[in-house]
Amino acid sequence: MQLPDLKKWSVWFVTGSQHLYGEETLQQVDEHSAKIADTFNTSKHIPVQVIFKPVVKTPEEIFNLINAANNDSNCIGIITWMHTFSPAKMWINGLKILRKPMLHLHTQFNRDIPWSSIDMDFMNLNQSAHGDREFGFIMSRMRMNRKVVAGHWQDPEVQKKINIWARAAAGWQDWQGARFCRFGDNMRQVAVTEGDKVEAEIKFGYSVNTYGIGDLVAVINKVKTSAIDELIALYNKEYKLAPSLKKGGRQYESLRDAAKIEIGMRNFLEAGSFKGYTDTFEDLHGMKQLPGIASQRLMAEGYGFGGEGDWKTSALVRAMKVMGSGLPGGNSFMEDYTYHFEPKNNLVLGSHMLEICPSIAGDKPSCEIHPLGIGGKEDPVRLVFSAKAGPALNASIVDMGNRFRLLVNEVEAVKPVKALPKLPVARVLWKPMPDMVTGCSAWILAGGAHHTCYSQNLSAEGLQDFAEMAGIEFVLIGKNTNLYQFKNELRWNDASFK
Ligand code: MN
Repeated sequence: MQLPDLKKWSVWFVTGSQHLYGEETLQQVDEHSAKIADTFNTSKHIPVQVIFKPVVKTPEEIFNLINAANNDSNCIGIITWMHTFSPAKMWINGLKILRKPMLHLHTQFNRDIPWSSIDMDFMNLNQSAHGDREFGFIMSRMRMNRKVVAGHWQDPEVQKKINIWARAAAGWQDWQGARFCRFGDNMRQVAVTEGDKVEAEIKFGYSVNTYGIGDLVAVINKVKTSAIDELIALYNKEYKLAPSLKKGGRQYESLRDAAKIEIGMRNFLEAGSFKGYTDTFEDLHGMKQLPGIASQRLMAEGYGFGGEGDWKTSALVRAMKVMGSGLPGGNSFMEDYTYHFEPKNNLVLGSHMLEICPSIAGDKPSCEIHPLGIGGKEDPVRLVFSAKAGPALNASIVDMGNRFRLLVNEVEAVKPVKALPKLPVARVLWKPMPDMVTGCSAWILAGGAHHTCYSQNLSAEGLQDFAEMAGIEFVLIGKNTNLYQFKNELRWNDASFK
């Protein structure tokens, strides 16, 4: 499953007005809107197509346009702007049926007031300062989630905010009708990886269904020797292979087993049009190894993954990979593993037993084989590396019973303080924002999972946009978090979602 080409998707640029101003003014509104849409369409900051739509002036035109946006499978959202005043009762029936994400762009065609030439014609045309307020009111009155971006449309900062929103809309679009596959159930007795799959499908649009591990094993067993040879050649090219895994080496057969598992899983996922999957070490009947390098490489291709049956994180990893498509840096399944409580240098070591995506690697991964204390299978092959240093975040979706909560903690990844010669897994070290004690306390209070999606290329703002598209709770632990306010926020959110 390759990641989708974001340029195949579009957002519609929709300008509202009314018939009060006369044909000449409305023609200028159209021209200006077309120019803005065209600039966005060719902007290096905006990853999707931006399609200009002729100005809407009546309730019927508004309704028909929104109806068409809902039914256009390539349209992932609409950007609205009120160049003039567009009485907002005209928008009610259209907004009632809107099923796509909306960005309300609060801009103005002219950057500056034309001091020496401004006259009543200019005032007649350039009214967004109050036209957008009328439009904002009706959306607030209807309690509609949307992103508001204010500023001049040529300002790169404005275009970057549109980029963030458009990427969130792409992740959201990708979830609609998406299929996630579970090999085995959740790890026994684990709470946070559980959740309401029916509610998830209603709320998020993706389905999660289980498939017998035996069905997967049957596909793995059909993998041809020649396909394994080809993949081994690719492993040789892309990774530093441990001596025992090389041809003639003591564990060469284990590498072949790992390659066979990878190909079989890919075939299974492709045949079922799945966008991600989960597995569990408690259900591996017929498998020689727990998939390590297979899950790592499938994640790098764009599949969502969650360990121990964690389907919520698998789906989140997939959405975040779509959102980050084409950006430098990566997104990976992650787990908070071990702490470093050295005074003034507190750190979290994030890792998993095996499955960290090489898209976040800071160096060339080495391909190694080591024993695994769980699962009772043969030693699994895995890629070992350290992640790149720099700003990043962890995101987690938990099921609070009456709602889903998306929790984000901004972090700063650092280079390992010392070498980790005996640690046989991919890993990353980070400092949580705003500091270790506050960040970890807040995460625990919010019920955040030990599993997350770790992102090097997405922002908290984009994930908030995403949560608002989904209509779920969003909670941020960042630079400005303090525990007193944070606890209150959780209490108030509880009331707000009752
Ligand atoms: Mn885990």
